[in-house]
Amino acid sequence: MGKNNRNSGNQNNSSKNRSQRRLALAVLLVLLLGFFWFMSTDNHTVKDFRDRYFMKHSDTAEENSGEGEEQASDGAGSGSTAETDGTATSTDGSENVAELDSSALPEYNGEHYVTVNGNVPVFPDDVYGRAGLVNDGSTWKTEGSKAGKIDSGKLTPYEYYGELDGLGRCTVAYGCLGEETMPAEGTERGDISRIHPSGWAKAQNWERCHLIAWALSDENANERNLVTGTHYLNHDGMRPLEEEVEHYIWNTGNHVLYMSRPLFSGNELIPRGVQMTVWSCEDQGKGMSFNVYCFNVTPGAEINYVNGVVTTEEQAQQEPRLYVVNKRSGVFHYPTCEGAQSIYKKNRMEVTATRKELTDQGYVPCGYCEP
Ligand SMILES: [Zn+2]
Repeated sequence: MGKNNRNSGNQNNSSKNRSQRRLALAVLLVLLLGFFWFMSTDNHTVKDFRDRYFMKHSDTAEENSGEGEEQASDGAGSGSTAETDGTATSTDGSENVAELDSSALPEYNGEHYVTVNGNVPVFPDDVYGRAGLVNDGSTWKTEGSKAGKIDSGKLTPYEYYGELDGLGRCTVAYGCLGEETMPAEGTERGDISRIHPSGWAKAQNWERCHLIAWALSDENANERNLVTGTHYLNHDGMRPLEEEVEHYIWNTGNHVLYMSRPLFSGNELIPRGVQMTVWSCEDQGKGMSFNVYCFNVTPGAEINYVNGVVTTEEQAQQEPRLYVVNKRSGVFHYPTCEGAQSIYKKNRMEVTATRKELTDQGYVPCGYCEP
């Protein structure tokens, strides 16, 4: 009897223990799930709170904003980062550089851009001057206007495209943009394929990237307005910002000072990035104000900014194989390419190597057979 009692007492105890353990596990699970939801949800209130809370812990904040940007770049969410947060603040929390020095440009950090000068726009005097703006102590005004007042009617909309430099590279594009500078409704964008911006390499997935978007400037096949850019720069970095400006102009009828400037490292022909500086005039920057440097990169790929050769991770891992090199032009082909078969004997070299070994030696993949 005693034995039985003790046994049943043990059973009671152990089943009590078990249910307590189960309860503890369930609570833990709920807490964990809640935590994961909190860390990953897109609910705006939660997201704002999360971003604010983790701002102090820069590592986590960076991870969060990185996630946000990925989501922003895939289709429907495009531009949402900027739209939901409002222009002037959309870039808050991004890494900042005091100024852009072409000898020490910021390294790609996983985000589409870094802010420059604390995200505060600064333009050369000419940008203001051509628009008809005069300095009014601490603010700007249109000539003949009251202090601190910018009158739409007294502004001069314009666009300026700087001359190409000695290496054939774009220098700068700026203007005072408004409805006047935009293409008329129903205008079709023309063909720009005849322009080969500096560093352009065929079949490397480069895009012709407008310094000032066609939708803002009605300026299309202008060699002073097109740089060699990655899809990431063109579509994910610059376009959401350009769309914001476009919407702002349509919604308000106001004007913006706009400057877009490619930054090259040394004598390279492809820019490492493009600086975009925008300031809305009539409301003194309240509606639109940002100063950012967008990276001209493809995440995961290696870019040669001199000859435009892009090496994807997959290509970098390729096994050695037979290629035909034209020693004179420096172009290499698959042996089956017509281009390989017509190489003059003296210039022809067959080599077993990896694609990367060849591009590292300065050889450029053929634009037709795309080795
Ligand atoms: Zn070829």
